[in-house]
Amino acid sequence: MKILVINCGSSSLKYQLLDMDDESLLAKGLCERIGIDGHLKHQPQNGKPVFDEDLPLPTHTEAIAAVLEKLTCPEYGVVSGMDEIGAVGHRVVHGGEKFASSVVINDDVMAAIAECVPLAPLHNPANITGIEACKAVMGDVPQVAVFDTAFHQTMPGKAYMYAVPYEYYKDLQIRRYGFHGTSHRYVSARAAEMMGKPIEELKLISCHMGNGSSICAIDGGRSVDTSMGFTPIAGLPMGTRCGDIDVSIPDYVCQNTGKDVTTVTNELNKKSGVLGVSGVSSDFRDLTKAAGEGNERAALALEMFQYAVAKTIGAYAAAMNGVDGIIFTAGVGENDAACRAGIGQYLGYLGVEICPNCNAKRGQETFISTADSKVKVMVIPTNEELVIARDTKELVENA
Ligand code: AMP
Repeated sequence: MKILVINCGSSSLKYQLLDMDDESLLAKGLCERIGIDGHLKHQPQNGKPVFDEDLPLPTHTEAIAAVLEKLTCPEYGVVSGMDEIGAVGHRVVHGGEKFASSVVINDDVMAAIAECVPLAPLHNPANITGIEACKAVMGDVPQVAVFDTAFHQTMPGKAYMYAVPYEYYKDLQIRRYGFHGTSHRYVSARAAEMMGKPIEELKLISCHMGNGSSICAIDGGRSVDTSMGFTPIAGLPMGTRCGDIDVSIPDYVCQNTGKDVTTVTNELNKKSGVLGVSGVSSDFRDLTKAAGEGNERAALALEMFQYAVAKTIGAYAAAMNGVDGIIFTAGVGENDAACRAGIGQYLGYLGVEICPNCNAKRGQETFISTADSKVKVMVIPTNEELVIARDTKELVENA
């Protein structure tokens, strides 16, 4: 079965077409500037040329139509017709408490995703638009929703509750949800395979470190705690998000600057994190370069990030009463050896020993701990699209 995986943003649409008979990638691409002007980059994996051009994409429906046209046309195509695509899997950011696993999309599921819009006002509307656009162009082809939050629904109350008036939870659904669940699920399953042990017997800490970053404690294959919270702003300092801060800060800033809380929240989401501290960039490559050239704020931002990751790993080792494996994934986790080494320096007390030679590798599955290291440390490139395609195949075949 061939499965189209869709990840819709408000003005973008990322896609992959996978052949699930052997899990091979047939094509991938990205529509950008939807609703503004439009650009499509389509990359067939069968030797045909790349299409990388502006074209009008007034809505997501035209974007999906353009993607399908490229996937099936003689010049850039990888399948002979749309009827070869057996199902579509969508990344959906927020499933609230309603979804603890992936589901086949029907009217009830659409209504439930819509009910979660207040919890993810920037993301869920785009996901709904993507699903509706696929329906408009592809008709009755089965569609599946895979939620970023679902993996974390196994967290116990002591991990997901905030110590706030109980009505906040009951009436407003305020609790820790956690995100990046599809990534944490994929890399933890791969880690168990690399370690040659059943995941049920392992205590793992997964560090998804990219533009957005989160850490997850996975005990016996179940998420038991995670650093993002009610929204993806919580936890670690990120590219532009502040991570955990004292909740009194926004009010104090408003009182002393005349800014309103929406402006301050926006600044905490978009002008904070390593960008805010360094004043240089949200990109760790730029920060490393600037720090190397003597920029102290860039160096401080990198130090703060590594310190926060190390503190969270320590907290999760305590939460699980031990840790067998630590995983680094996503853009920074997969590529930034200096960052991994810096984090490793805090973790000697746990029995973590990083092997400098192994750590020099980049972007591939590998152990980076020494043979003697009590805790195994791994780099595992994440593959959220593959998880989405696997869930979609399983649900559609068993429907
Ligand atoms: P992601 O959100 O997973 O796509 O990660 C994006 C981030 O990964 C970028 O903002 C960079 O900071 C970081 N990144 C990508 N490649 C490298 C690299 N070679 N060295 C350091 N950081 C990198």
